[in-house]
Amino acid sequence: MTAYTYVDHEYDVVVVGAGGAGLRATLGMAEQGLRTACVTKVFPTRSHTVAAQGGIAASLSNMGPDSWQWHMYDTVKGSDWLGDTDAMEYLAREAPKAVYELEHYGVPFSRTEDGKIYQRPFGGHTTEYGEGPPVQRTCAAADRTGHAILHTLYGQSLKNNAEFFIEYFATDLIMSEDGVCQGLIAWKLDDGTIHRFNAKMVVLATGGYGRAYFSATSAHTCTGDGGGMVARQGLPLQDMEFVQFHPTGIYGSGCLITEGARGEGGYLTNSEGERFMERYAPTYKDLASRDVVSRCMTMEIREGRGVGPDGDHIHLHLDHLPPETLNLRLPGISESARIFAGVDLTKEPIPVLPTVHYNMGGIPTNYWGEVLNPTADDPDRIQPGLMAVGEAGCASVHGANRLGSNSLIDLVVFGRAAAIRAGQVVDPSTPNRPLNEASVEKAMERFDRFRNAAGAKPTAEIRLDMQKAMQADAAVFRTDKTLAEGVEKMTAIAGQMADVQVTDRSLIWNSDLMETLELDNLMPNALCTIVSAEARKESRGAHAHEDYPDRDDENWRKHSLATMDGETKVNLTYRGVHLDPLTPQDQGGIDMKKIAPKARVY
Ligand SMILES: Cc1cc2nc3c(=O)[nH]c(=O)nc-3n(C[C@H](O)[C@H](O)[C@H](O)COP(=O)(O)OP(=O)(O)OC[C@H]3O[C@@H](n4cnc5c(N)ncnc54)[C@H](O)[C@@H]3O)c2cc1C
Repeated sequence: MTAYTYVDHEYDVVVVGAGGAGLRATLGMAEQGLRTACVTKVFPTRSHTVAAQGGIAASLSNMGPDSWQWHMYDTVKGSDWLGDTDAMEYLAREAPKAVYELEHYGVPFSRTEDGKIYQRPFGGHTTEYGEGPPVQRTCAAADRTGHAILHTLYGQSLKNNAEFFIEYFATDLIMSEDGVCQGLIAWKLDDGTIHRFNAKMVVLATGGYGRAYFSATSAHTCTGDGGGMVARQGLPLQDMEFVQFHPTGIYGSGCLITEGARGEGGYLTNSEGERFMERYAPTYKDLASRDVVSRCMTMEIREGRGVGPDGDHIHLHLDHLPPETLNLRLPGISESARIFAGVDLTKEPIPVLPTVHYNMGGIPTNYWGEVLNPTADDPDRIQPGLMAVGEAGCASVHGANRLGSNSLIDLVVFGRAAAIRAGQVVDPSTPNRPLNEASVEKAMERFDRFRNAAGAKPTAEIRLDMQKAMQADAAVFRTDKTLAEGVEKMTAIAGQMADVQVTDRSLIWNSDLMETLELDNLMPNALCTIVSAEARKESRGAHAHEDYPDRDDENWRKHSLATMDGETKVNLTYRGVHLDPLTPQDQGGIDMKKIAPKARVY
């Protein structure tokens, strides 16, 4: 192995990732006086959060009556009763506070006539515990909400003296002999130096792994690096079978048209010009939740009512809306439709298709963001020294299906919660323990192996095989047959990493090596997804199984935990869903009868 020299750093907390979750955690930690570093492979404001368009959910009641209990009910129902009750309560209750905090930090929200934060309707957000009309709960800064939040949080983090390590690629966690996370290794992309970060707490905020699929709305950087790092330490990934397809990715490019488009009055049609969602979801129609709309679109296409020469997509209409509304509320997507579909959306419909959008599964945590390493006796056992927040984590508030605009709020609520918790458990006055050299060496051996990999299969080829297999066999519709084939294909594809070919041996701006490390992170995410999906013999939320069309609460209301065993084998165990709320009903908590499982209709 090459002898590497290290640049060493010592902090109280190191956050990996500078998206909404990473920045909110970084800011919170720094505000409390913890010495905080934020390591990120892209410039903070280029993180995928910047692309979030539609908005952030909170029951502010600015556009009509609303309550955190209704928001919680919608989240429970949206999750198809797989979310953890305590975490969902925490999310809905803390949401208004977290949004006002963003407002005071400087996020330029759109405004109502009387100067309040503008809120728009989004799928699955209702009133009166699903009995009342849709509610306008999604706070928006036009259709550039993520952009506004990210820029504001970055500015605030700098103001609070958080230190940024930008364009540093975190490769692996460093674990002590007694199993405590002690820090991480990062490769500085522009000069090739290798850095070791020693910290009392590591926070993974590395985002989702949409790029395990061929067509995704997420950035090319969404490669599940945190999940990969965790899986390599033998820690589990939770509920990975639940992958959200957004109904309206632009046909061909996958570029997102926000659900806000339907929130503002847009609707879907098939080849007969029919507004088919009225048939499937008579009450909420085009604003039923995402898994429902994606499935209905797929059904229309499979039954021969798709549009276009190949009958393989659906139309989204905004051409009936006044151009002023489109200009004011949806300027970004007007541009996307023009560039990526060649469509003037004031005059013609946009061609759309369900596209991979969000990973409900991830690194299991409690509602403080502390990573869990469950045992049979202790399903809530905490992994010391490690937290996970944002799309990389699984708290679990989204369960089997996330509601639109519930991710941005998850980022800030749990980024903030992790900071509050770190303030309690991290003692800045104690010295950090010396790093476990054996753990460092193991990580660097892996790095060196890929750097010098002289196999037969270029990274891009293995990646394409993986993306196509996942797109074909772990998509909206799933059967025993497709899933079993998918597991077989993915096991073989993961095995090819041993024969990967990297041609560039340098350490400076070596995108060949970086993409290989990213692929090696995507691989366990993809494998755990398809193996967990194959095992789950029911339909729930985004996991729609044609051979088991019903939800089976008796046998399957539980979280899947997938652990890597070597490079290609996945072991599965399960963990119970948290059923208890944080606040009992007689102390102002939710009426538990309201959130008892029932059929999920919109
Ligand atoms: C197009 C689009 C639109 C969306 N719109 C909405 C919306 O309107 N409302 C909503 O609620 N949700 C929306 N979502 C979902 C939501 O935006 C994402 O789930 C969320 O932004 C993820 O944030 P994050 O902080 O977890 O990760 P990201 O924003 O993806 O950031 C990940 C960070 O991790 C860093 N990182 C990753 N790996 C490494 C590594 N190895 N080393 C160093 N750094 C690393 C990256 O540099 C980056 O800073 C949308 C998603 C997409 C794709």
